Amino acid sequence: MKTDILGVGIDDLTPDEAVAAGSALMEEEGFHYVVTPNPEFVLAARKDEQFCAVLNSADLALADGIGVVYAAKILGRPLKGKVTGIDFAQGLLTRMAHTGRSLFLLGAKPGVAELAAEKLRAAHPGLLICGTHDGYFQEDAPVVEEIRAAGADVIFVCLGAPKQELWMVQHGPDTGARLAVGLGGSLDVFAGTVERAPESWQKAGMEWLYRLIKEPSRFGRMVRLPLILVDALAARLRGGRA
Ligand code: UDP
Repeated sequence: MKTDILGVGIDDLTPDEAVAAGSALMEEEGFHYVVTPNPEFVLAARKDEQFCAVLNSADLALADGIGVVYAAKILGRPLKGKVTGIDFAQGLLTRMAHTGRSLFLLGAKPGVAELAAEKLRAAHPGLLICGTHDGYFQEDAPVVEEIRAAGADVIFVCLGAPKQELWMVQHGPDTGARLAVGLGGSLDVFAGTVERAPESWQKAGMEWLYRLIKEPSRFGRMVRLPLILVDALAARLRGGRA
């Protein structure tokens, strides 16, 4: 049962439980996908029915960001905590290195996915990365075919939202992979082209502020994010309805 946060269903899991659930999906027949809604996703989904439906059809939806956790608290449906996409991905990487499942990295600017692959292979001995492709392609079919030919079990789809979620739903089943995970800018972090906040900032729920300081150009995008708390409060006052 998912927890309804302003119309978007979120799985109430700890990071370890999320990795266990993701690992189980990796072993199941058929195609599955994971989404990592942050406040920006929730606000966008309130205005975009298709995006909302795609988020709500995911096999797993993780609370990627402290804003979603606060909104849940305001709504009176507290979650166990945040599960960032990047921490979830790290857990899956460890698992894949043990089980021999193969990974395809899709997204980011040309060269970034290759660099991320190099760094991930060094950090996770035994990890099988079967291919990479940048995220600025014009045609989907050749990319789908490349992933299929590579025999990928898992795809990290890092095209930004909502593009990556729509791509997973539309093309994921044709790739032959069992699991696709929408991970935004994670390849930039794995490649080292974007720095993640230090652990103390992450623990304090201030990762967003660190990111804003490092990438001030995001201000226009981020300034609206507290709206999720306003919307949550309004919904609570209306009796919990989104
Ligand atoms: N991106 C991409 N193709 C596109 C648009 C974006 O591969 O057509 C990549 C972009 O290079 C970046 C990631 O998608 O690596 C999105 O990053 P963003 O910071 O928007 O995502 P967030 O981490 O906030 O979810």
